[in-house]
Amino acid sequence: MPNPKQITERYFQSPSKYIQGPAAIKNAAQYLEKLGKKPLLTCDSIVYNIAGKNLITALETHGFQVTRAEFAGETSGKEIDRLADLGKNSDFVIGLGGGKTMDTAKAVASKLNLAVAILPTTASTDAPAPRSPSSTPRPASSSGMGDAIATNVEARLCKSSLNFGGGLPTEVATAIGNKCEEILLAFGKQAYEANKAQVVTPAFEKVVEANTLMSGLGFESGGLAAAHAIHNGFTAIPGLHHLLHGEKVAFGTVAQLILVGTPTAELEVYLAFMLSVDLPFTFAQLGIPEVTNEELRRVATLSCAPGETIWNMEDPVTEELVFGAIKAADAVGREFIARSGKKL
Ligand SMILES: [Zn+2]
Repeated sequence: MPNPKQITERYFQSPSKYIQGPAAIKNAAQYLEKLGKKPLLTCDSIVYNIAGKNLITALETHGFQVTRAEFAGETSGKEIDRLADLGKNSDFVIGLGGGKTMDTAKAVASKLNLAVAILPTTASTDAPAPRSPSSTPRPASSSGMGDAIATNVEARLCKSSLNFGGGLPTEVATAIGNKCEEILLAFGKQAYEANKAQVVTPAFEKVVEANTLMSGLGFESGGLAAAHAIHNGFTAIPGLHHLLHGEKVAFGTVAQLILVGTPTAELEVYLAFMLSVDLPFTFAQLGIPEVTNEELRRVATLSCAPGETIWNMEDPVTEELVFGAIKAADAVGREFIARSGKKL
């Protein structure tokens, strides 16, 4: 049940700065200078090779003394302590990478009581604010769009529930969610193709902002509902572990739309968008064409666990209804693809 404690305060939070652009890493020094000159740089070895080296070079040219803290890949209390130990003489923390790196960098900064700059190298997760600055090699990825398209679909069902700050959503959070969706539907396909061609276009820039800033603010100050709960439920199926966050969220988004009785014409707007950017909404697309009812019931059970974001919605929710919505998403999706004539 949403808002059992009947909290009436509205709450919105955001980073103090957001910077986006093709040269953001190269120009990072001018934005980071205000935080200090001795950053602790948290990134994993892969991101270090792709973007970390260039960032360090750019910063050292401007007189920064960078301490490198190689993130081992999994966020844990022990890992946070280990990295924080390396940052005892640092004056701020930089998190360069994806969702887990961001979460870890924020935790390290909090432990050291320092400011944190988040530099997402992929907009495939909508990890919460603050983030600054941003520059990304593959930021208009389809996974990033899968997560971002869920933002409005989920937040609009959470108007009476508490957001991640513990208050009710504001009108501005609603507006951000709407804008995020508007941009994805209008420019997602174009940005997806630009990304594949490795070029920056206005559509690409708009989608990076939707995937990163709007999706992040929109979900954090808006709220999550069934799409992310179903994503979490998918952890019950080992065959899905290789999929990206946004891919599972995309399927969950379709299941949620069906769960709350979305009219076909509206549902098909989302299906057409997802199909155009290669996001999955059938079991075959997820790589589990043989999934059993028993496995899907486990997904539904996990999706409806106490405390799951599915309970933010006012719509009726039971495990049986969620199971039905997941099966129906696949069925509706298969029919939609067949009608589209697209060969997968
Ligand atoms: Zn997400």
